[in-house]
Order: sequence, then structure tokens, then C-alpha cells
Amino acid sequence: MSETKKRLPRVDLPADARLATLALREGLPPSQWGENSEALYLTSSFVHPDAATAARRFADEEEAFTYSRFSNPTVMMMERRLAALEGTSGCVGTASGMSAILLLVMGLLKGGDHVICSQSVFGSTIKLLQDVMGRFGIESTFVSQTNVDEWRAALRPNTRLLFAESPTNPLTEICDIAALAGIAHGAGAWLAVDNCFCSPALQRPVEFGADFIIHSGTKYLDGQGRVIAGAVCGPEDLLQSKLVPVMRSAGMTLAPFNAWVVLKGMETLAIRMQAQSANALVLARWLAEQPEVARVHYPGLESHPQHALAMAQQSGSGAAVVSFDVAGEGADALRARAFQVIDATRVCSITTNLGDTKTTISHPATTSHGRLSEAQRQAAGIQQGLIRVAVGLDDIDDLKADLARGLDAIRLS
Ligand SMILES: *Cc1c(COP(=O)(O)O)cnc(C)c1O
Repeated sequence: MSETKKRLPRVDLPADARLATLALREGLPPSQWGENSEALYLTSSFVHPDAATAARRFADEEEAFTYSRFSNPTVMMMERRLAALEGTSGCVGTASGMSAILLLVMGLLKGGDHVICSQSVFGSTIKLLQDVMGRFGIESTFVSQTNVDEWRAALRPNTRLLFAESPTNPLTEICDIAALAGIAHGAGAWLAVDNCFCSPALQRPVEFGADFIIHSGTKYLDGQGRVIAGAVCGPEDLLQSKLVPVMRSAGMTLAPFNAWVVLKGMETLAIRMQAQSANALVLARWLAEQPEVARVHYPGLESHPQHALAMAQQSGSGAAVVSFDVAGEGADALRARAFQVIDATRVCSITTNLGDTKTTISHPATTSHGRLSEAQRQAAGIQQGLIRVAVGLDDIDDLKADLARGLDAIRLS
């Protein structure tokens, strides 16, 4: 295969280029136009010089772009950039974070296989594994996020995948990635880690032995709340042999425009994550001092039960999501108080998205985790008084004042 026929030329960066540099430059191929900003290839198909060449390309005898459900140059730029940041040899972009998990499960597993998953992962992940994949004969066992022995005890001869997320949404529980990788590999299974909350700027699960990394590009990778996107990072050979064929047939493909937005978003990832997690730590410390707050959940606080593990796995103070329980008793009363706090804010956006530069505030029990049964919610530790703040780039004093307005509302009531 000649160099010109290769699908996308590689960027010639020094091998030791660091994350902030990779986030700006990896994936931008040298082109005949010399553009300094990544091109958006809004095209569904690609033209071939003649019928015989088209035939060879469709037979995978010659590498070329053919159809954007299979691959697209803008999507490939985004995949190369994200793989470089995560430290994996490959990456496949997907239409959403959930379709990344769907692709992973459909690519790696078959009916009769068994998955072990943390019971504290993203709500839709639990639904997908239990309700959807369960109908296709893939069984899942949900175990404690933090108790490694439960994961080991759940192993079966047909266990093929361990699935974790760290920190979790919204309680920011940490799992021991290296310990879970050891358990998975000892049993001939893979470990996948959903790295949405930290992003590779703060945590690189492959360094602790994870095989596959899941991303919702919708969150910190885009960073400005514009598009839905996702990706699976992992070993290129497994992605190509197991996942890509499923994506070509099933079409959970990432759209070029969304890939382009995420690609440009990643350029500011490192500096946003630093600033947002610094803001989050200040806010978490302040919340912990407020009498109307019963508990603050944030890995950067010394009071977090897994503070030491978090600081070993993540850099800085960790992710920028802070959750807190309002003080009080009784599910109905707590829900009413949480609603009062949320409704009194004027700066925070009342929305469930996170990873946005605009700070968002939400009530997990009735929104992101509202579809779970009460038993599933209790298992995940999500009470009616819980409020989640996904800290953005708003001025920290404005954020404190905003939440003070909220807490004042329940002090007076
Ligand atoms: C949002 C989210 C997802 C799902 O991503 P979508 O892009 O919304 O499909 C998966 N995992 C975590 C941790 C998330 O926060």
C-alpha cells in the first residue's frame, strides 16, 4: 500500500510530547492546504477513481475512506487525538457515550457471557446491561463500587468483562482500578473503565491496567455542552477485529460534525480540567462548613472515605463534580428542601448535563437516576436530599453566593 493511499497521514510529533500539546496537535494531518485548524469533512460518501478501485476498497484490500458510517477523516482525527490522550493504541468514536458501551458489549460478548459491574455506575449503564443486554442472554452482576472482595466473589467461569466507573456519578465513589484489573486478568476477562468524570487530563486508567476506556464526549471532552458523542479507547487490534465490524453493521457511528466539535473541545481540556477541579475543591470545602449541609461528596476532600486512593489514581483534586446532602429527615421533606435550594440559585443552570463550562445543578433522585427503582437508588446511596453540582468556569465567589442563596432558603423555611 503506497503512502498516499493510506487513509490519513500521521502527525509527526516528538514521541515525548505531553498531554496539553497532544490535545492541540495530535490527529491534525499534514494536508495539501496546510490548514492550522482541523477540517470538517461533512460528507456521507467518498469518490473512487474507477470501479475496480472501489471494489478493492470495499473488499478491504486497499485502505481508503468509503462511507462515513464506517469511517470519516474528521472522526479519525478525533479518535487519534483521544487515543493519544488516554495512552491507548486505538479509539473508536461513537454516536454517544451509551452507544460506546453498547458497542463494547456487543463487540466483546455473546449470549451466555457474564459481566460484573459496579452498582454505582451511570444509571443508563445499569439499564443497558440489565434490561437490554439481559434480553440477549448476557447476564450482569452488580457489586459494590468500593469492596474489591465483592468483585472477586462474583466471578464465574463465563465472566468476560468487568465494568467500572471512577469517580461515580453523583456520589464520587472511587474504585481501585489496579485491583480490579488484577481480578479481571486473573480470570481471563477484560476491565473497562468509564473515564467520563476525570477525562484523561486527570486520570488515565490504562496506567492502572484497564483494557478499555469508555467516554461520553458529551461531557468534558466537548466541554461546552454542545454535542452528544462517545468513544471506546483500547488496543487497536481488538477494536479493529471485534468492535469496528459491529459498528459498520449496526451504525452507532459518530457524526463528523460532532467529532469536529469534540476535537476542538479537547484543545482546552487540560486547562479547563485544572480550573474546574480547583473551583470544585474550593466549593466543596465551603459547602462542608455550612450547617444546612449534612454531607459533602468530593474526592479532593480529606473527609472523603477514599481520599488517598483518589489522589493516587487522579491528579489535582480530581473531577469537578461535587454532591451534597441537605440536612433534614424524611424522604419527602428532604426532596422539598433540595428543590428549594436548587430553585433559589440564579447562576447555576438547572440541568443534568455535566462537564460544561457553565456550572450545572441537579437533583439526581428525580432526574438522572429517576428511572432506577427505589431499591437500585438505595443500593447506589442516592437520597432524596442529594444535590449535584457540576462545577464549571463561573467565578468561584459567584458560585458560593449562588449556593448561599439556596441554603438561606432552607434556613428560613
Ligand atoms: C453521560 C454519561 C454517560 C452517557 O453518555 P451519553 O453521551 O449521554 O450517551 C455514560 N457514563 C457517564 C459516567 C456519564 O456521565
